[in-house]
Amino acid sequence: MKTVILIGDGMGDYPCEAAGNRTPLQAATIPNMRRIAAAGKIHMLRTAPEGMFPGSDVCNLGLLGYNPAENYSGRGPIEAAGARIVLEEDDVAVRCNLVTVEDGTMRDYSAGHISSEEGIALVQSLQEVLGADGLTFYPGVQYRHILVIRKGPASAHTHPPHEIPDLGIADYLPNSLELCDLMMASREVFSEHPVNLKRIAEGKLPATQIWLWGQGGALHLPTYQELYGLSGGMITAVDLLRGCAVLAGLEVVDVEGANGLIDTNYDGKVHAALQVLKEHDFVYVHVEAPDECGHMGDLALKIEAIELFDAKVVGPIWQGLESLGEAYRIVVTMDHRTPVSTRRHSGEPVPLAELLGPVGICSEEAAFDETFNGGEATTTSWELIPTFLRH
Ligand SMILES: [Zn+2]
Repeated sequence: MKTVILIGDGMGDYPCEAAGNRTPLQAATIPNMRRIAAAGKIHMLRTAPEGMFPGSDVCNLGLLGYNPAENYSGRGPIEAAGARIVLEEDDVAVRCNLVTVEDGTMRDYSAGHISSEEGIALVQSLQEVLGADGLTFYPGVQYRHILVIRKGPASAHTHPPHEIPDLGIADYLPNSLELCDLMMASREVFSEHPVNLKRIAEGKLPATQIWLWGQGGALHLPTYQELYGLSGGMITAVDLLRGCAVLAGLEVVDVEGANGLIDTNYDGKVHAALQVLKEHDFVYVHVEAPDECGHMGDLALKIEAIELFDAKVVGPIWQGLESLGEAYRIVVTMDHRTPVSTRRHSGEPVPLAELLGPVGICSEEAAFDETFNGGEATTTSWELIPTFLRH
């Protein structure tokens, strides 16, 4: 039995006036998801436990079948695992964004989607100036990096920068002097940095400082092999999901040109997923673009991202499973809502469609959107997903 979970990050939303009071999922042309919904079964999922913020970290842990309430210490440690950074028992891993702050407000949580090459150069400079014994900056991808602090402030209160777009940062600073001081110190390091001077000359947003959040101590999870006797792979462009994969004992498959944006290498992701299924029985495919479009507040682009996910990921992988001629379960869902109206994650239930195949040709379509079951949850991700994995 092959099991495939396909995640369109942040696809869920609210009705949008500009889309005729439909949600992006309702407004998008998504024949594959609607056919899976028609031929299979729909559930309405709660993806974050009560009282926990519906971050992609918490929600994807849940969608991998782990109860976040029992298995979550922070986003930093998950991403550190993905970057193969080994944490000692008293280490605290902190997510380190490159951001653009202008006139005291959070102009951009991604410093204009800065390139990895530029980001790495900035983080290397940070390490030269601010790094010390027990304090190490690790370069990551684009605007996403990691800081490890020995005996760091694990229980500080911090805010994700993508949750405070265009808001004054003064109200959202960490309640840890150590973290605040590092954020302040990074401004000096970045202010005349060649990377920033070049970006400004090119009309791009500079990375004015780092933003520290998501800190936590080392995290250990039972693996898929231990839990279900399963081996498998994870296809993703983002460090967080790599981290989840490493912790779950799944193989992380690198796909050239997979960038977490709308122009990601969809064909490469599909090819990689089908390759994984030749040797293993499980694959988890994560596409980041709908979430990014939600954070940008761009309705048209979000609809396009959802349509691309349907046409270029869901459709081809489903066809690939059909042509294997073996029993399979295909699951399509999202980790949370990222409404374009608020540009922030929100934790209302999201739809999940599952189909047991092979089923041959399907042309009937059913609704696949946020209104299933009146919008009320029928189950939680961490209860439902393990039932797909225990055979
Ligand atoms: Zn997400």
